[in-house]
Amino acid sequence: MFSLTLLKGIRVKIKTLGCRTNIYEAEAIADSFRREGAVISEDLFDVGILVSCAVTKTAEKKCRQFLRQLKRESPDALIVLCGCYVQALTEEELASLGADLYVGNRLKSDLPGIVAKMLNDPIERPLFLKKDVLSNDKWDALELSRVTFHTRSFVKVQDGCNRFCSYCIVPFLRGRPTSRSVKEVAEEVKRLVDHGCKEVVLTGIHLGLYGYGCDFDLGDLINALSRIEGLRRLRFGSIEPHALSDRLIDVLAESDIFCRHLHVPLQSGDDRILSLMQRGYRAEDFINIIRKIRRKLGDDVHISTDIIVGFPGEDEDAFQNTLNLVDALGIGRVHVFPFSPRSGTKAYDMPGRLEGQTIKSRVVRATERGRLSLQRYAQRWLNRKVDILVEHNDGEKVKGLSRHFLEVESSLDQTPSPSVEAFQNGGVGFECEVCVLEAKHGILYGVSSVEKDLSSERGVYRE
Ligand code: SF4
Repeated sequence: MFSLTLLKGIRVKIKTLGCRTNIYEAEAIADSFRREGAVISEDLFDVGILVSCAVTKTAEKKCRQFLRQLKRESPDALIVLCGCYVQALTEEELASLGADLYVGNRLKSDLPGIVAKMLNDPIERPLFLKKDVLSNDKWDALELSRVTFHTRSFVKVQDGCNRFCSYCIVPFLRGRPTSRSVKEVAEEVKRLVDHGCKEVVLTGIHLGLYGYGCDFDLGDLINALSRIEGLRRLRFGSIEPHALSDRLIDVLAESDIFCRHLHVPLQSGDDRILSLMQRGYRAEDFINIIRKIRRKLGDDVHISTDIIVGFPGEDEDAFQNTLNLVDALGIGRVHVFPFSPRSGTKAYDMPGRLEGQTIKSRVVRATERGRLSLQRYAQRWLNRKVDILVEHNDGEKVKGLSRHFLEVESSLDQTPSPSVEAFQNGGVGFECEVCVLEAKHGILYGVSSVEKDLSSERGVYRE
């Protein structure tokens, strides 16, 4: 019989690749080891864990590189690969990667127990633990008790997807939709706020499917979290367009802590390509949703997006339609992804694959257009005041994010005041108001004046 006390003093290094949900899971895995007395270490380690990603070929290549790096850094350590890449490969393919333990999705909360067992028993290696996620809707019971960054935490509330967009491997890796109850999420957020968290970013594989098959939805969650005393800011990681129902937009508009930023993946602005992608909407539907958001959340709302460039059959006109839509909608930040063919998806076998060179040149052009659109959006904040939550402070300059999800850098107003002292002490986690004097490469630069009194004002939208 093994005991978790075996983990006391064991040094664990955790590396993460991929999305915000992975970041949350990696932090929660670290917490689960800490709770058993293990030490999370960046240098020497007895157990090296890679929380993997397999969304593109590039992500898979990075996984293999990271794994080799972990093995080089500590040849005697127990090396663990967990998550999406494990789910994507057969046992035979995994064995060639050289880890000691492979753990698929929805089993990550079992990691401390399995690792303790492997450290104690001369179990044959490698060990494979993986389940069929496509027929499983169990919630993997990971929990977070500490703040991910200085002041901001990702909180995973949903897993899985059943949309099966034609290019996407994720539903095969993450499995069926499943959600965490409103009560459980609210308890976790309350715990994080009690430990100094001021901003929570809700994440999921398809956040819009939160509550799928349950008697609660995302609106109920936002209402519950908006009542938590001390939580200043609430955001979504990313939300699919069709999830933005009238009711949800109304709830977001009524919440005094929901930040005016939504990341809504467009993927393509061309109806023919959208249909091949099986996205379930046309360009016009997307336009109507964004218009509705602006009507309810204000014209200043920052809409950022993802686009996929070089999908099979994308001709120059279709590509231009995407760029034109980005411009027409006043989108801010744009993440550009080259089409990555994933075996097992419908798009993998579609005719009309583009030459690598064409895709590369479209990525460059779309990225440049994205830079311009972010700068255009940033410029609307010139000579206005924005609130930032300070995440970096060198005593002279502070950096943080505005409520609209723009990076802001600010020097100090030298007028003597208690807030100047707070800055100069190098503290973080306080909110301050910045008068924006310049916008460059999508970043705002300005001067900070008054530290906000967090005790007297709660989550008031100030920009
Ligand atoms: S909505 Fe589409 S792109 Fe998003 S995870 Fe599901 S299948 Fe993939």
